[in-house]
Amino acid sequence: MQTLQQERTLDELLQQELKPLVRKVDEEAYYAESFLLQLGRDGWLSSEGLTVGEAAAREVQVVHAVSANCMTTGFNLWCHLAALTYVRHTENEALRARFLPALENGELLGATGLSNPMKYYAGLEKLHLNAERVSGGYVLNGALPAVSNLGKGHWFGAIAAAGDDQRIMAFVSCDAEGVSLKEKTAYLGLNGSATYACRLQDVFVPDEEILSEDADTFVPAIRPYFVTYQVPLGLGVTEAAIASMNKCRSRQHGANQLLPVQPEDLQERLDQVTADFTQQLDQGVTWKGMLEVRRKAVYLTLDAVNAAMMHTGGPAYLQASPDGRRLREAFFFLNLTPTAKHLEKMLQA
Ligand SMILES: Cc1cc2nc3c(=O)[nH]c(=O)nc-3n(C[C@H](O)[C@H](O)[C@H](O)COP(=O)(O)OP(=O)(O)OC[C@H]3O[C@@H](n4cnc5c(N)ncnc54)[C@H](O)[C@@H]3O)c2cc1C
Repeated sequence: MQTLQQERTLDELLQQELKPLVRKVDEEAYYAESFLLQLGRDGWLSSEGLTVGEAAAREVQVVHAVSANCMTTGFNLWCHLAALTYVRHTENEALRARFLPALENGELLGATGLSNPMKYYAGLEKLHLNAERVSGGYVLNGALPAVSNLGKGHWFGAIAAAGDDQRIMAFVSCDAEGVSLKEKTAYLGLNGSATYACRLQDVFVPDEEILSEDADTFVPAIRPYFVTYQVPLGLGVTEAAIASMNKCRSRQHGANQLLPVQPEDLQERLDQVTADFTQQLDQGVTWKGMLEVRRKAVYLTLDAVNAAMMHTGGPAYLQASPDGRRLREAFFFLNLTPTAKHLEKMLQA
């Protein structure tokens, strides 16, 4: 895996611009939009001179570091990187030329409405969006129950059925006529993720904003990266949970050492999942291989945040406790598409 050349700068950025916001993100549904844009402005998302794989290997380290501080913001970064993946892979050269620099340089934020299509392709549900071919583009109709990292000026990827035999993928502007957004902030965590229920009513998407007219072929190309960028959400949270357990090692004369799950056990599993993940990144990301890594990351993350609650003890049960926040965030990691049950189904196939 390529190492980050600017590690200190990323640490400084996190300390200065994310750390002071973490409680606000968790407690006041604050969306760390300016931090996300700053990541791009500081060059952390640039793929200039890199292959898609090399860019991903570097970007997963950024998602990891952000998530170790705040998984909600790490998830927003994932949304953006998913959108970046679509733009990097599209054969629509004009679309790529128009959006790629702005998405990489901190001028524009992207998002993804692909949970429903991912479930559609796994045989779990029907597509929620329909597309009708009209002169110069498509007209989209339907609703997506939750799309995050949205706001004025943001764009998101969406897949719609254009009849029985064709699915298309569009890059949709939140500001397009016919797009209505309803903010969702009643979740257990993740309320600072700028998540909206998204209704599309006769939304015209011109051909210039179509990522692919053959989503059935496009999806297998992009979905390994879609999942790749999720893995460090869990690994970052796990790392932070282990650090938290290590901090209270000697409390109450070392009584924590009697608990069934120790930080060393979790560190060993984290090292193993990280090694599998690195191997995937180094040798070329495969769909099944990355699904295995993602599944291991889910169960490891849940074990780590649970154990940290026990090791930290009483203080972990306070509303503002970082251990409690990580526990709530980790339950979203397990419910993010592909959810644990979706992963189990795909790995069985
Ligand atoms: C905080 C948060 C952020 C999310 N961000 C995104 C995102 O950026 N992009 C994205 O594509 N997905 C997003 N999702 C969806 C997520 O990835 C999962 O799909 C979701 O958590 C549910 O998965 P599930 O399979 O358990 O479905 P279930 O919750 O069991 O739901 C099954 C299906 O019922 C339907 N459904 C559920 N709730 C509603 C509703 N309120 N109105 C109408 N239909 C509904 C949907 O078809 C859903 O897939 C988000 C979810 C949450 C909680």
